[in-house]
Amino acid sequence: MSASALSDTGGIPALELRRVTRDFHVSAGLFAGKRRLRAVNDVSLSIETGEVVGLVGESGCGKSTLSKVLLGLLPASAGEVLFHGEQMSHQKRRAVAKRIQPIFQDPYSSLNPRRSIGSIIAQPLHVHGFGNRTEIRRRVSDMLDVVGLPSRLAQASPAQLSGGQRQRVAIARALILRPEILICDEPTSALDVSVQSQILNLLLDLRREFQLTYLFISHNLAVVEHIATRVAVMYLGRLVEVAETRAFFQAPRHPYSQALLDSIITPNPAEGIPTVHLGGSFPNPIDPPSGCAFHPRCPHAMPRCATDAPRLLTDEAGEIACHLTNMQQGA
Ligand code: SF4
Repeated sequence: MSASALSDTGGIPALELRRVTRDFHVSAGLFAGKRRLRAVNDVSLSIETGEVVGLVGESGCGKSTLSKVLLGLLPASAGEVLFHGEQMSHQKRRAVAKRIQPIFQDPYSSLNPRRSIGSIIAQPLHVHGFGNRTEIRRRVSDMLDVVGLPSRLAQASPAQLSGGQRQRVAIARALILRPEILICDEPTSALDVSVQSQILNLLLDLRREFQLTYLFISHNLAVVEHIATRVAVMYLGRLVEVAETRAFFQAPRHPYSQALLDSIITPNPAEGIPTVHLGGSFPNPIDPPSGCAFHPRCPHAMPRCATDAPRLLTDEAGEIACHLTNMQQGA
């Protein structure tokens, strides 16, 4: 556990992953049978109450699989997920859903087009058998107000709303059961840039108002810099660096983090698109490189990198998995 993961709730993190692995068995071709795809590989991460951990990495690195494991939508193949120190696998799915809620990328497909906004937001209350009709109506109206939407929209359909308004509805639905943790999977990437910042600011306001804890998954580093208190970088199923947000953006330590920051696309088109520094394409997860999985693309790779996988080690600056850093620190 990192030092920053110690919470004021007796040192027990809100959410903790202990050596979580998730495998899939996928077809490798007509005559090749099935092969193992390790989407999440031995991931340990602690998230303190009130933290916003930004989980970043390229598409296909395992971020979304990890979020599904955290939500209880996929079982882990190995390892444990603990919620306030209790194993999630020992808790009922419904009890977990009350305390951990997702917000997904696409507000267009995540809302049922045949339902009114009011009934979409109220649905979790019905599923969990909460309150009578008057009480439910009042809570829906309050929640619309909390996310900055007029209560008259309770009668509207999703098709009548803009993208930003639909994502506000998705947030209201996620919050209606008053969860403690939100797993946000690319919640702004389908929105216009101007609307993105409104939704990010809303999420930050809600964090303060409801003492929420976020795992915020994104491939957009500008968004993560805006919202996260800590950053976790994932490459081919493994965490390679975890650091406080300010330190990470000032001086990323892992060569992959450095390459990601060099290739950042800023939301301001006037600043242009910097050169992408990642040599080579993202490897096939069915056939990952040996040793450090980043070695075929790493400008600092040494012979040892092709054979030995570096362990994620903790120091005063955070956590990092790289032989180069370990050598420089004499580890
Ligand atoms: Fe590069 Fe080697 Fe560090 Fe991997 S372990 S990031 S290949 S220097």
